Amino acid sequence: MHETPARDLGGQPVGEIVAGSSSPSFHRLARRITLRIVALYLVLGFTYIALSDRVVIALVDDPRVLTWVQTFKGWGYVAVTGVLLYGLIFWQTRRIAAANEALAERDRHITRLNRVYAMLSAINGAILRGHDQDALLDEVAHIAVDKGGFPLAWVGLVDADQRTLRPVASAGAGLDCLDGLVLHVDPDHPEAHAMAADLARGHPFVINDLAETSPVDKCHARAVAHGYRALAVVPILKASRLLGVIGLFTREAPDRGGPVFDDDELRLLTEIAADTGLGMTLIAQATALDWASRFDVLTGLANRDLLKERIDQALLRARHQRRYVGVLAMEVAGLRAVVDSLGRQQGDRLLQAVAQRLAGQVREGDTVAALGNGEFAVLLADVREGLDVADVAHKLLKPFELELQADAPPHFVTLAAGAAVYPNDADTADGLIHCAGIALHQGGAQAPTGDCVFYAPEMDQRVREYQALDNELLGALERGEMQLHYQPVVRLETGEIIGVEALLRWHNRRFGAVSPDRFIPMAEHSGVIRPLGDWVLEQACARLARWQERGWRLRMSVNLSTRQLLAPGFAERIRETIMRHRLDPERMVLALEVTETAVIEDMEAVSEALARVKELGIVVHLDDFGTGYASLSYLQRLPVDTIKIDKSFVQTLDTDPVAENLVRSVIALARSLNMGVVAEGVETAEQRDALKALGCHVAQGYLFARPQPAEDVERLLEASNP
Ligand code: C2E
Ligand code: CA
Ligand code: CA
Repeated sequence: MHETPARDLGGQPVGEIVAGSSSPSFHRLARRITLRIVALYLVLGFTYIALSDRVVIALVDDPRVLTWVQTFKGWGYVAVTGVLLYGLIFWQTRRIAAANEALAERDRHITRLNRVYAMLSAINGAILRGHDQDALLDEVAHIAVDKGGFPLAWVGLVDADQRTLRPVASAGAGLDCLDGLVLHVDPDHPEAHAMAADLARGHPFVINDLAETSPVDKCHARAVAHGYRALAVVPILKASRLLGVIGLFTREAPDRGGPVFDDDELRLLTEIAADTGLGMTLIAQATALDWASRFDVLTGLANRDLLKERIDQALLRARHQRRYVGVLAMEVAGLRAVVDSLGRQQGDRLLQAVAQRLAGQVREGDTVAALGNGEFAVLLADVREGLDVADVAHKLLKPFELELQADAPPHFVTLAAGAAVYPNDADTADGLIHCAGIALHQGGAQAPTGDCVFYAPEMDQRVREYQALDNELLGALERGEMQLHYQPVVRLETGEIIGVEALLRWHNRRFGAVSPDRFIPMAEHSGVIRPLGDWVLEQACARLARWQERGWRLRMSVNLSTRQLLAPGFAERIRETIMRHRLDPERMVLALEVTETAVIEDMEAVSEALARVKELGIVVHLDDFGTGYASLSYLQRLPVDTIKIDKSFVQTLDTDPVAENLVRSVIALARSLNMGVVAEGVETAEQRDALKALGCHVAQGYLFARPQPAEDVERLLEASNP
């Protein structure tokens, strides 16, 4: 607590004269006043003596009377001069007192301003040194007490939504004044604090006599109890936004009606608050810069730079201790589908959930980093052998459920991983990250979800090929390199063609025929699938319209990527296509095929989109059934008309009892759900007969017909429909 003589000067003039009596200005003043009194006294005395004697001599002749008169005159003189002296001395002493008070006031003012100046410069020093906001604000409060001489000082911050103010730093005596203080500083709030209006205008809020003012908050009464008399609260602003306040108490009372905090002082305090605000802004910028340069803003995980730093450190240690360092590159499956269907925000939530989960599953010395674009990397800083990496990867890859939409089944989150190990694959941070990434993407074929693929040198060549092919794919449509083939779908009993499946063919100028298994995932990855898919639909519908004109009732199945299906306006576009080709909605023979794995990735959004498609009379096929994780029970929740049993089951029907069981139960389930079943990939008569025996009636496969150009299919149709 800092009490100073200047601040304690009361209202007693005599005491002040004594207090100030040693100053040279006081000596000068005293001499001047004494001289003035003596001079006046002398003049009056001489004049009196000179004039009175003349008068007495002129009027009185008797020497005895004269002696009496002289004596009375002397008494009279003493009486009059006594009164006169009293008056003079009283008058001048009052002037001295007044002058001294003015002097003391000026002195006190200057002392206070000096203190506030000292405070300003100390705070500016703190700002230059500061790199932590809490420490800065704490220092501001302490400087206000130590340098500014305020017995109690505090700093408050406004919360993010600019509503409430709470003390965050304080110094001095009587800190309990601030306990539990929360002030509403939004002037529009019904419980807005008395200071809200001033602060909103950027002005200080001052109470010059706490004891005389009705309490503005609970701090007020406690402050009075501590003997505080006045209070100033100065806003800390950034531009015109309120960041917080500096609050200052004094024990001084307002003197003679004048304010405790005068304009000069308030101006300086405002400057201090402005500098504090600047300091806070600088610290915030520096922290943001520092943080953002090392961490991923969305997930709070380390970013690529920090990951590299940590890998370098791990490599140093591993070299010494002859141990391994593992780096996993991981990707969230189906992120794009979530973003396409539910929006970027839900995609971000998905990434945050994955980040949290990964970070919670690694050891202390390991680092989980976010590399952007839905990719993560994990540094396993100290492993005994490559197998350990596989173990950790296995743990991290466990699928989990995440609620993305209210009243919808949870989203099934799956990850894929690629791994690289020091010293086998690379011996630098960049090298390890690169190799893990290559293992993950495997030249575009993409590691299967739930699996970790280890890097192998031949993958590099695949990556280069992938990139070259990806480039070619961009212009493939424009160069006319794409063609649709059609594979007949037949009724097993009669061999009659009841439909076709449209399958895309790409013959590239450089790479020749490229398999859809290779370029479709690529197109999905780059987004080319949308124009490509639109083109396929257009071709297929045009072909279907021509066949309808010829009176052929065939079902046309078109494969659909979920990226197409979930794109905004897909249902509208397909409706427009159907109308343009005048496909009869009553006798609609268009079917869309979505794969089971794609559906599982985002069941809710896909179901919704499929339901909208079905409203147009379009039939939905669930493709590659049996390859996903899904349980049979989810089938009843999907708007699906027909299940296509994946060819891997059909082709092992005669050798694998598990396959036979699956086919049998799918057929039974489909029947109970009133769905159709199509078997694909039938290559042999044995497979066909086994299917027939199990109760499957529709199939496609090389045994009946290969995918072929439209004209060839038409010839087949003409032969069977003469
Ligand atoms: P899918 O939809 O399962 O198509 C059936 C695949 O099985 C086709 O491969 C077809 O040629 C092949 N296949 C048919 N019968 C047999 C058989 O008896 N034995 C064997 N081993 N295979 C048979 P394809 O044409 O290479 O297409 C591969 C995948 O590419 C398709 O699998 C489909 O998922 C995708 N795809 C093809 N065209 C398109 C398209 O226009 N859009 C989309 N999004 N995907 C397409
Ligand atoms: Ca298909
Ligand atoms: Ca299939």
